[in-house]
Amino acid sequence: MATRKKAPAEPAETVVACEHCRYFVPKDGRNECRRNPPTVAVDFEDGGVTSMFPLVDAGEWCGCWAPKLNS
Ligand code: SF4
Repeated sequence: MATRKKAPAEPAETVVACEHCRYFVPKDGRNECRRNPPTVAVDFEDGGVTSMFPLVDAGEWCGCWAPKLNS
């Protein structure tokens, strides 16, 4: 009696979102985008100047999204 072959598993759907992007870095309770170098940020309350990576929400995305690397 012939046996029926199992259907191949569906490939996992790639979700385009920051949390699945290679440039997404959760750090110290916030999510940074490391696609570009940090930029200058000014604290208008005390006039302090610093540099930082853009903060992003895990569910957002942009046109530079790229899948995470396997290595
Ligand atoms: S999708 Fe865009 S904004 Fe989000 S982590 Fe990737 S490069 Fe940064």
